[in-house]
Amino acid sequence: MPSAVLVDGLNTNSQETGVTKFTNCLLVKGSELVKEDLWISSLSGKILNGQEILYGHRTAPDNIIDLGGRIVSAGLIDVQLNGAYGFDFSVIPEDGMVAYSKGVLRVNRNLITTGVTSYLPTLTSQRPEVYQKALSFLGPSGPLRDSSYGSESLGAHCEGPFLSPTKNGIHNAAVLRTSPNGISDLASCYGAGNLQSPSPIKLITLAPELPGALSSIASLANLGINVSIGHSDATYEEAQLGISAGAKMITHLFNAMKPLHHRNPGIFGLLGTTSHSHSKPYFGIIADGIHLHPTSIKIAWNAHPDGLILVTDAMRLAGMPDGTYDWTNGSRIVKKGALLTLEENGKIAGSSIQLVDCVTNFMNWTGASVPEALKAVTETPARMLGLQDVKGSLKEGADADLVVLDLQEEKEEGEKKLVVEQVWKFGEKVFERDGSAE
Ligand SMILES: [Zn+2]
Repeated sequence: MPSAVLVDGLNTNSQETGVTKFTNCLLVKGSELVKEDLWISSLSGKILNGQEILYGHRTAPDNIIDLGGRIVSAGLIDVQLNGAYGFDFSVIPEDGMVAYSKGVLRVNRNLITTGVTSYLPTLTSQRPEVYQKALSFLGPSGPLRDSSYGSESLGAHCEGPFLSPTKNGIHNAAVLRTSPNGISDLASCYGAGNLQSPSPIKLITLAPELPGALSSIASLANLGINVSIGHSDATYEEAQLGISAGAKMITHLFNAMKPLHHRNPGIFGLLGTTSHSHSKPYFGIIADGIHLHPTSIKIAWNAHPDGLILVTDAMRLAGMPDGTYDWTNGSRIVKKGALLTLEENGKIAGSSIQLVDCVTNFMNWTGASVPEALKAVTETPARMLGLQDVKGSLKEGADADLVVLDLQEEKEEGEKKLVVEQVWKFGEKVFERDGSAE
């Protein structure tokens, strides 16, 4: 048994086992909150089998942490984050790639304090040279497993540039492309090396109705790169072809696609599919109170609860103080809380919400329980990415990426709020909120 090997390893130094036991806590397990202890190792960075350690090997933990009844969840995963803390993954700084890598590290070290322990750094549609420079800094950190680097990339999300020019949203229409020659066109855009295994790319959003898109999806699926349908004018039937070709997800459902029409349900219709030949796709939801009406979110969740993935789609002003900031082409953006608007016309310019606040909104808007809401930022994105054994759960053998949460309830409104109290990465504590009681 792998865990026995692990424990034997720990026993080689009985003074420092690297083992931490959390007690007096509620663990998120499936759709339940379970009152149970949790054992983790800072040596392996993984979740341990506590029963086996205690009774089989009689190893005492180095630390016992009483969490006073707080909730322990697997660390949160954001599969769509464009930037934060003043850094934009899609912009190569004037002083080059050293500055770029410093910017990525700054995001990682700050992001982890919000409970997001792993994520997909996301590039909006860009010219090929941007991908070819940036992607090598955004790939999975793999065997490095160093908690001091902060939040961990699971690979890049390329949102574009193979998108519909009619649904470009804030993406620059001038850089959008098609792939009539399939994967070779993708290779000339992202860089051939970036499509070879191990690829720095984990997810590509594209529009399935464009020329060559279906063959591109099939090739990407063969390479182990996940495909999501988005920024697309696809009909229901075109979207189904995308799923048949291998796409697994829909990028920010409802936004940048045809709305549901009763005679043409569009991409949203994939959530109602009953055909056994088409599995229902996962879908991203931006629960920031700006992009979607709460009822739209509830309808989507009811249609396919196991597919819902909360994403921030946040950009470089996330984590920055409120104020007015320079944007591209001489425009300026006003940031007030999570809301970002263009100074000249008041139009919505994006989101700067934190993922834990999306979870709070989702609970309050849909009536989802705490574990149901947390599933949409842990287990479900991990499963979509094929990482369900290492991320997104408190199962034995999974990475010990954890978030300790306090559930606060407002008595008058009955609204709930989740607050990040502690964050652990690879079995080590990397953040504790000021003033939180031990
Ligand atoms: Zn988008």
